[in-house]
Amino acid sequence: DRALVWLRRDLRTDDNAALHHALTAARQVWCVFVFDTTILDPLPRADRRVEFIRDSLADLDGQLRALALAHGVDGVGLLVRHGDARSAVPALARQLGVQAVYASHDDEPDALARDARVRGALADAGIALHTGKDHVVFERSEVLTATGGAYSVFTPYKNAWLKKLDAADLAPRAVAPMAARLAPPPPGLATSVPTLAEIGFQPTNLHQMKLPTGSSGAMELLDDFLARIDAYGTARDFPAVKGPSYLSTHLRFGTISIRRLAREAWQRMQGGSRGAEVWLSELIWRDFYHQVLHHHPHVARASFKPVYDRIHWAHGQEADALFAAWCEGRTGYPLVDAAMHQINQTGYMHNRLRMVVASFLTKDLGIDWRRGEAYFATHLNDFDLAANNGGWQWAASSGCDAQPYFRIFNPVSQSEKFDADGKFIRRYLPQLADLPDKLIHAPWLARPVDLAAARLRLGTDYPLPVVDHALAREATLQRYAVVKAT
Ligand code: FAD
Repeated sequence: DRALVWLRRDLRTDDNAALHHALTAARQVWCVFVFDTTILDPLPRADRRVEFIRDSLADLDGQLRALALAHGVDGVGLLVRHGDARSAVPALARQLGVQAVYASHDDEPDALARDARVRGALADAGIALHTGKDHVVFERSEVLTATGGAYSVFTPYKNAWLKKLDAADLAPRAVAPMAARLAPPPPGLATSVPTLAEIGFQPTNLHQMKLPTGSSGAMELLDDFLARIDAYGTARDFPAVKGPSYLSTHLRFGTISIRRLAREAWQRMQGGSRGAEVWLSELIWRDFYHQVLHHHPHVARASFKPVYDRIHWAHGQEADALFAAWCEGRTGYPLVDAAMHQINQTGYMHNRLRMVVASFLTKDLGIDWRRGEAYFATHLNDFDLAANNGGWQWAASSGCDAQPYFRIFNPVSQSEKFDADGKFIRRYLPQLADLPDKLIHAPWLARPVDLAAARLRLGTDYPLPVVDHALAREATLQRYAVVKAT
């Protein structure tokens, strides 16, 4: 009769599957979020994601209060705990006297291990843990090949995904009609959403960026995007253009429902919007990489295609110096460097640039994709193991439906094509601002007279290239030769 909803990657009340199921099954329902010290302790003390979560919880707390109040229940609020979730959740469930805990699936390996522990501890107290799908449209083994296997190529997966799609898959999981079942916490158990300082963190520059938090922030971004979704297909590839939705962090933390987004795209696609069709395809890539991780959990550590782990990546002092230059945006390739400044300053990086810098690290610098993957994991606001790993293994060619290894992005032509007028480069590398557009992609080709006119001292104000792309390309083809035999 009593249930606890443990929110993790679904920080919203609207269209929330776990909350829907709990409200359907029980007469008194509470919601908790745990700031899990197992996850938080290793993080630097200023982390935009922690601030994003904290502020989104304040928004969620307000949503819960308002929803219950509209149904005549006063004093409802989000319960927040700060500790090890493996013990905090069972302890709270016992204190509340619930029969069941509800949560949405999180298929990352560490989350699965955590949930197994929580399930065991709850079972010892006679409490059930019910988990279900919320984070993706189709999960785990819902979309399989005709012979029952997992798809390893995107296009047939996407076709099967679209064929399977039914209105019910995208229908909202209703919460509001049952909101009278939200219960005020018993005396002594109520908590307010802690400040950043209370959980041991410092503020970041999150609020100087255009990333509004919480479900209300997600709705702002969605409204803004839907007005330009028709242009998505053409605008999405140019980092200086406001083309994509910027909703990835919201999808990561579930401040907006994936069903809602897929519905918006699907409806517009039926209405003939090419942009909506391309965008839906991106949402399907997200499902695709989640099912890859589910069926092939080894990708979290190793190459999807094992032969790619025979590659000898560059290592030692020289490689470490090159890696540091990549991280800090000092490779001498302006588009790569501007992209790295973008992630370092904002926690976001445009998709085209993620592909360019990942290709540059693996195929120009010869550095193991796992080092880049780890760097992104600590710096991206939208870091998601499945999508990040998928993206890196795609760029390194080691992944599921990856680009062939001999396809090597040229960082200069990528720059000429996708930032032709250097607008993005100039935003992050102001020292190059006065170079003419045609020279900004490869400043080392500029004549001394051009450099003087642009008041640029190469090697001082901006580095010379750390590698020569043509030579690096040859070295990469050699390095990857070990995979050719198979
Ligand atoms: P939009 O273009 O508006 O796309 C809408 C949504 O679709 C995104 O929010 C995202 O949820 C999903 N999506 C789009 N492209 C992809 C993709 N290729 N794979 C999976 N999902 C996708 N995305 C993450 O969410 N987290 C990551 O950690 C991540 N790491 C990446 C690393 C590399 C090396 C590469 C090449 C891509 C990575 N991506 C990752 C995918 C993609 O770059 C981002 O999802 C996108 O740039 C986010 O911006 P947006 O929300 O404006 O995207």
